[in-house]
Amino acid sequence: SQDISYRVTVAPAGEGHALLTFEDVTEAEQMGQMRRDFVANVSHELRTPLTALLGFIETLRGAARDDPAARDRFLGIMEREAGRMNRLIGDLLQLSRVEAEERVRPTAQVDLQALVAGAVATLRPLAEGAGVAVELTGETGPLPVPGDADQIMQVLVNLIENGVKYGGAGGSLRIHIAREQLPRGPGIRLDVMDRGEGIDPVHIPRLTERFYRVDGHRSREKGGTGLGLAIVKHIVQRHRGRIRIESERGKGSVFSVIFPET
Ligand code: ADP
Repeated sequence: SQDISYRVTVAPAGEGHALLTFEDVTEAEQMGQMRRDFVANVSHELRTPLTALLGFIETLRGAARDDPAARDRFLGIMEREAGRMNRLIGDLLQLSRVEAEERVRPTAQVDLQALVAGAVATLRPLAEGAGVAVELTGETGPLPVPGDADQIMQVLVNLIENGVKYGGAGGSLRIHIAREQLPRGPGIRLDVMDRGEGIDPVHIPRLTERFYRVDGHRSREKGGTGLGLAIVKHIVQRHRGRIRIESERGKGSVFSVIFPET
């Protein structure tokens, strides 16, 4: 059951008459609420590292002033917190850019196979540094689709980084390229499969919401902003593609994006 609200405007319309206008503001109201929630979330996410920074500045001026070891340690923490703010602002800007462009269809043709191979090559050192082996399987020939190369690259980076972050150390990540029929025509599917702990099904429908995290502490610990999958969603929508998330507790997760070929 959904509440419906109307805005009623009464305007005088000549002698003895009035004009009544009914305007459905349910959606407008919801948008307003979403915007307020978003602003509150952003403020909170920025304030947390900022509070830490202010606290450490005070400590450096006072108690830690003549203690070089403590000073170094605090500066390390401050650097990490500043990095967190920097990533958050970067992701916010990216999110607003992809939202602004969402209605503009990409016109260039890009080779998905080459993009995936490039993303894997770029991210392999990061993954291996975290003890995660990366394997690329499936289609090997050129796979042209209408798309924005930078944005598709961003999708791959976000999904692969999540696979590394949540896939568990000592694990492995498989990226698989396959053809798949979409309702409107042929498509190319990219699967990012990890062998992490998996995700409880109750969370899956909400993962692409801004700032939605299964475990906020863990995400922050790993440098997450909570915006990666929201960015993925907008980019995929712009390409008229699909996102599919399948996960099994204890076995791992598969994040798939499917791009139409035409
Ligand atoms: P974050 O910056 O927190 O990683 P994302 O939007 O990329 O933000 O992801 C949202 C949440 O989805 C994460 O906090 C995590 O709980 C969950 N998640 C994403 N990818 C995976 C994965 N491969 N395995 C398990 N959980 C994941």
